[in-house]
Amino acid sequence: MRSFIIGRFQPFHKGHLQVVREILKKSESIIIGIGSAQYSHTLRDPFTAGERHLMISRSLEAEHITNFYLVPIEDVNSNPLWVAHVQALTPKFDAVYSNNPLVKRLFYEAGYSVFSVNLLNREKWSGTIIREKIIRGDRWQDDVPKQVAEIIEEIDGVSRMRDLTRTDAINGHTAP
Ligand code: NAP
Repeated sequence: MRSFIIGRFQPFHKGHLQVVREILKKSESIIIGIGSAQYSHTLRDPFTAGERHLMISRSLEAEHITNFYLVPIEDVNSNPLWVAHVQALTPKFDAVYSNNPLVKRLFYEAGYSVFSVNLLNREKWSGTIIREKIIRGDRWQDDVPKQVAEIIEEIDGVSRMRDLTRTDAINGHTAP
């Protein structure tokens, strides 16, 4: 069985890694959709699809996980067309794992088996909380795989996000 999950992975954190491990106990391989692939350089979506691709692939390779496919997926302006859009970009899959009610509904209506994912340690392993910590200067490095922390360092991601706070404040946006 090949399974599909999708998330924005802003950034990929230890909770996501745990979910991938759990799904691979029940699936031969996993397709990981990098959602909202067109967005980057905002407080909600600071990292590009390419940067997120590198974060996920390096983290999984470090765990000796090789049975994965990474597919960046841009949003489309129509929910009824979205599943077909995903299908056009990905290898064929049998099951979908998500906690997002819209994602679950759209795949259910398209005839897929849809399962919930077990999110662990959400007070720490949450993209929103990690982005807030990065901006505040709190320690966030323990909440992501080591490879993700290295990539954020390599791309000067902390300065990028702090600069975005200033930019977004001018534009009237405040929270990550
Ligand atoms: P999301 O907005 O990235 O995440 C929603 C919540 O689920 C967040 O709290 C997220 O936590 C959590 N989460 C997601 N995947 C997780 C995982 N594998 N492990 C642990 N927590 C996870 O939305 P999403 O459901 O993950 O991704 C849906 C993607 O599909 C989005 O990019 C959305 O734009 C796209 N989509 C597009 C259309 C369209 O184009 N018409 C329709 C439906 C969906 P974290 O912040 O910690 O990740």
